Amino acid sequence: MTCKQAERWMMRYMDETLTEQEAEALAAHLDQCEACKEAFLAYDQMMDTFSQMPVFTAPEGLEEAVLMQIEAMPVPQRAIRYSKKDRLKLLFGGAFALLFGFGVWLASNQEKVFSYLASHDATGQYAQALRPVVQMIHGHQNEQLLLLEQVLMRADEMLTALAGPLLVAILGLCVVQVVRFRRK
Ligand SMILES: [Zn+2]
Repeated sequence: MTCKQAERWMMRYMDETLTEQEAEALAAHLDQCEACKEAFLAYDQMMDTFSQMPVFTAPEGLEEAVLMQIEAMPVPQRAIRYSKKDRLKLLFGGAFALLFGFGVWLASNQEKVFSYLASHDATGQYAQALRPVVQMIHGHQNEQLLLLEQVLMRADEMLTALAGPLLVAILGLCVVQVVRFRRK
C-alpha cells in the first residue's frame, strides 16, 4: 500500500465506508509507516474535536429581530416617505391643472357644449332644464370677466414694473431649492 492510498483510505475510515479487509490493510500500513500513523492520529483528533463542537442553532426570535432592525433602518424609510409626499404633490398639482384647464375650456365653450348636450336624446332634457341656470351664470360671468380684465390689466402693469425684481426673486428661489435638494 502506498502512502497516498493510505491517506485516501484514512478519509474513508473517518466516513466509515471501509470494508473490514480494507481497514485491516490500512492498520497494517499504519503499523509500519510512522508518517501515516502521525497523520492518522492528527485526523482522528480533528474529527473528535469536530464531533464535540456544539451544533449552532439560532436563538428563538432572531429572524424577527433582524427583520425589525432592517425595517427600523432610517435611510430607506425616509427616502420612501419623501417620494410618497412628492407623488401626492404631483397628483394634486396635476388634478388642479386638469380641473382648471377644463373649467376654462368649459367657460369659453359653454354655448357649444350646451347645444351639443341639447341635441342628444340622453342629455337633451337635462340641458333644457339647466339652460336658465347656465344663462344666469353666463350673465354674472360677463360682469366678472370685465372685472377680471381690469384686474389683469392692473396686474400686467404691475408685472411690467416688477419684472426685474421678480425675475431675481424667482431665480433666487430656484437656487435655494436646488441647494436644498442636493443636500438631501
Ligand atoms: Zn505511509
